[in-house]
Amino acid sequence: MRAGLRLEPAELVAYQKTLASHGWGAPTWPLEFGGTGWTPTQRFIFEFEASQADAPPQFHQGLELIGPIIFTYGSIDQRARYLPRIVSADDWWCQGYSEPGAGSDLASLRTLATRDGNAFVVNGLKTWTSFAHAASHMFLLARTSVQARRQDGISLLLVDMSAPGIKLRRIDSLDESHHINEVHLDDVRVPISDLVGEEGKGWSYGKVLLDRERGVAAGNALRIRQQLRAVRRTVERAALAGAMSAACVAQRIRLAQLEIETIGLEILVMRLIADEAKGRNCGPQASIIKLRWSELTQQAAELWAETLGYHAAAYRGIDGHCAQFPADMPYAVQGALYSRVTSIYGGSSEIQRNIVARRFLGL
Ligand SMILES: Cc1cc2nc3c(=O)[nH]c(=O)nc-3n(C[C@H](O)[C@H](O)[C@H](O)COP(=O)(O)OP(=O)(O)OC[C@H]3O[C@@H](n4cnc5c(N)ncnc54)[C@H](O)[C@@H]3O)c2cc1C
Repeated sequence: MRAGLRLEPAELVAYQKTLASHGWGAPTWPLEFGGTGWTPTQRFIFEFEASQADAPPQFHQGLELIGPIIFTYGSIDQRARYLPRIVSADDWWCQGYSEPGAGSDLASLRTLATRDGNAFVVNGLKTWTSFAHAASHMFLLARTSVQARRQDGISLLLVDMSAPGIKLRRIDSLDESHHINEVHLDDVRVPISDLVGEEGKGWSYGKVLLDRERGVAAGNALRIRQQLRAVRRTVERAALAGAMSAACVAQRIRLAQLEIETIGLEILVMRLIADEAKGRNCGPQASIIKLRWSELTQQAAELWAETLGYHAAAYRGIDGHCAQFPADMPYAVQGALYSRVTSIYGGSSEIQRNIVARRFLGL
C-alpha cells in the first residue's frame, strides 16, 4: 500500500478474512447480521486508524452495496445464505448495473429477465464490471417488464457467476491492468428465490445503495492522507537530490496545498458523520465528498508521478519492481493512470455536480 500498489482480489480477500477473524469484517453492519454494530463515530475512528496504518480499504461491492440491500429487503433465506459469506470473504460480489448505452442514464438498461417456471431467464450485456473475473456472484439489474414506466420495470437479481450462459470478455484499461470486464448473459437461469424483494422494485432498492455510498465516499476521503504520505516522501527526496530547484519549490507548494485541501475534505467527512450520528438526513453531502475526493486523489497521483520525473516511466519492471529505484516508483504512473477512473465510476463528476446543483443549491 505504501508503494501505491492496488491490491489484487486474493490479497483483499486475505485482508477481509483477517478483519473477520477479529469480528471487524463488516464495520458498517448491525450486530444481528454479523456486523460490528458500531456507531458512525466508531466507524470513523476505525477507518481513520486503518488509513493511518496504511491498511487497504475493504472491497466494498459485497459489504457496502449488496449486503445492506440483502439485510434490508432480502428474504430470510437470502440473508442466511449470503450475508455470512460476504463478511468471511468466501463469496466475492460484482456489480452488474452498467451496460453499453446505460451508464449515467441507468434506467435505460436493456438486459431482459423473462419468467419461465420457477426461474428468470436473463439475456443481455453488462459492461465495465469490476472484478467479474474474480467474482463468485453478481447482483444485477434487469428489466422484468417493458410495459411499466422505465424505472418500475426493473428488478434486482442475485446471480451465481458459474451459471451456464455467462461469458466474460476482459477489458484492458488505461493502467494496463485487468480489472474490468464485459459480462455476456445468454439464457442464464436465475431461480426465483434469488429475486431480491419484489419484482419491479429493483430501482427503489437503489435508494438504500445511495445512502450507503456516503460511507464509501467518506472512507475513500480518509485515504487521501495515506496517498499524500507517499507523495511527501518522494517530494522530500527530490528536494534533497535537487537542492531546491524551482521545480522542487513548485512541487512543495502544490503538496502543501493538497494537504490543506485534504484536511478540508476530512472536516466535511466529520460533519457528515456528526449529522449521521444525530440521525439527520445528510442530503447530497456524499456527492460533494465523492467529487472532491476524486479531484484530490487525481491531483495527488499526478503530483507523485511528476515529482518522480523520468524515473516514473520505469513503472513496469519485469516482476513489477525496478531494483535500481526506490520501491515506491513502479506504481506511481500506474496509480496516476488508474486515478482517472475516480471521476467516472460510482457516478461521474458531472452527475455529482447535477445532484449538488439540484438538491443542495436548489437550481
Ligand atoms: C474502471 C471502471 C469500473 C467500473 N465498474 C463498474 C461496476 O463494477 N459495475 C457497474 O455496473 N458499472 C461500473 N462502471 C461503470 C460506471 O458506473 C459508468 O462508466 C458511469 O456511470 C458512466 O457511465 P458511461 O460510461 O455509460 O458514460 P455516459 O453515461 O455515457 O457519460 C458520458 C459522459 O457524459 C456525461 N454525462 C452523462 N449524462 C450527463 C448529464 N445528465 N449531465 C451532464 N453530463 C452527463 C458523463 O459525465 C460523461 O462525461 C465502471 C466504470 C469504470 C470506468
